[in-house]
Amino acid sequence: MESPAACSLRDIEAWDAECDVLVVGLGCAGASAALAAAEAGADVLALERASAGGGTSALSGGVVYLGGGTPVQKACGFEDDAEAMRGYLMAACGPDPDEAKISLFAERSVEHFHWLVDRGVPFRESFYPDTGIEPPTDDGLIWSGNENVHPFRDLARPAPRGHCVAKPGAAGGLLMEKLLARVGATPGIRVTNDTCAESVVCDEEGRVVGAIVRRAGERANLKARRGVVLTAGGFIQNREMIAEHAPPLLRCKIRIGCEGDDGSGIQMGLAAGAAARRLDAGSISLPYYPPEGLKRGILVNGAGERFLNEDAYYGLVGEHALLRHDGRVFLVVDDAVHERPMAGMEIVAAGDDPAELARELDLPGLEATIHSYNEAAARGIDPAFHKNAKYLAPLVNAPLGVLDCTVENAIYAAFTLGGLATDVEGRVLDEGDAPIGGLFAAGRTTSGLAAQGYSSGLSLADGTFFGRRAGERAAAGGAER
Ligand SMILES: Cc1cc2nc3c(=O)[nH]c(=O)nc-3n(C[C@H](O)[C@H](O)[C@H](O)COP(=O)(O)OP(=O)(O)OC[C@H]3O[C@@H](n4cnc5c(N)ncnc54)[C@H](O)[C@@H]3O)c2cc1C
Repeated sequence: MESPAACSLRDIEAWDAECDVLVVGLGCAGASAALAAAEAGADVLALERASAGGGTSALSGGVVYLGGGTPVQKACGFEDDAEAMRGYLMAACGPDPDEAKISLFAERSVEHFHWLVDRGVPFRESFYPDTGIEPPTDDGLIWSGNENVHPFRDLARPAPRGHCVAKPGAAGGLLMEKLLARVGATPGIRVTNDTCAESVVCDEEGRVVGAIVRRAGERANLKARRGVVLTAGGFIQNREMIAEHAPPLLRCKIRIGCEGDDGSGIQMGLAAGAAARRLDAGSISLPYYPPEGLKRGILVNGAGERFLNEDAYYGLVGEHALLRHDGRVFLVVDDAVHERPMAGMEIVAAGDDPAELARELDLPGLEATIHSYNEAAARGIDPAFHKNAKYLAPLVNAPLGVLDCTVENAIYAAFTLGGLATDVEGRVLDEGDAPIGGLFAAGRTTSGLAAQGYSSGLSLADGTFFGRRAGERAAAGGAER
């Protein structure tokens, strides 16, 4: 991967503007960093390459992963604590999740909820029972991951933690409207839109002391007395980087991200000597439900065999389908279960019984799979994958059908989870795990809470939570080498 070289301080003839903390990119992570830095007394300059802040955060569903006993959880009658939340995230965010980040986030999640509320982000104290995507209502809480499904429900006490910003449907716009309004009203923050950061400037010791930016074709040298915070999103829009680091994501139809998700923040960090972590990782959703009732079908791979409990979060289903089963998966339903999936997968085979269905699609193990599933489901159990009994029903109502969930024909939606290595204070680390002086990062420019395994809400959560930490630490004068 070609990274832009960091500019040397020796090559800067004059600074065009100065600030204490320079924030690059104004999505949820950048807005949180700017607010935290200004609230800590720093003079902040926030740059956004688009004509307004918001980024992918403003396009998002507005589900924020929070827990440990928030007022919303309590009002909705759910018990939760930091230990249960930590246990779930350690089990679900791997392999090899960042334990320090998860522990701190679980410990301070309730405080972070109040931080967001105090900055104008509204959450209603009501629960929406269907799982997965943001609700069509303005309810405030959903199950947004695998907390209450096998095997996670037995590893940590389950609680719903998807906190939905109070607006029906996608509410990321409202989240960003509130955060950006606060940014605009905070005297210590100047915002410059239509301004793209191109490289960071390092002094003789390798400390980051500013950035070179371009605005309407004009170059400007910006000095950051205390630190630069890179919050420029991920790299799902950079095909070259995806091909090099996370090639399976190229097969996904939908790239979840704004134009700015081209990896420029990561590349600027690498040029300053940063290490990258988990550039292969991605959130991969296969939204084969809603409707919820489709979970009563069975998912099979190219060999006609089931591979997980169908009540799992669709992000886990997508990850398994693409990374472990080559994107060749199908959903088997019967006439009682079949409903039109919201994501529009088509029927590719139909038959009066399992044998006919298996012949039509040439899935060798399918007939045996359906028989053994049906036999156990009739007894209300799923010994193979432990799907919740409420989704168990033998598939016996003819005709049986197969919905096409292959990566070529179904919606697989992906965004990147890997990025710069940072510590819990948002300091960017080099290959030896030492902080690089003056350089901070958060959000999808970094590898955050989800090393690979994802639950909805984790990206807005770690963007805002570690964005705050990065902004605060930068305001405090940065890390010394
Ligand atoms: C449809 C959809 C639904 C989603 N739903 C959810 C959800 O409900 N919950 C959840 O947690 N996540 C969700 N996500 C994912 C989530 O929105 C993103 O991962 C998250 O918003 C990333 O935040 P960020 O601050 O790191 O980046 P962004 O919000 O993308 O902000 C980065 C900003 O930096 C700017 N920028 C980039 N490069 C430069 C540069 N060189 N100079 C200056 N500016 C630059 C960009 O223009 C952008 O404004 C969803 C995403 C989509 C698209």
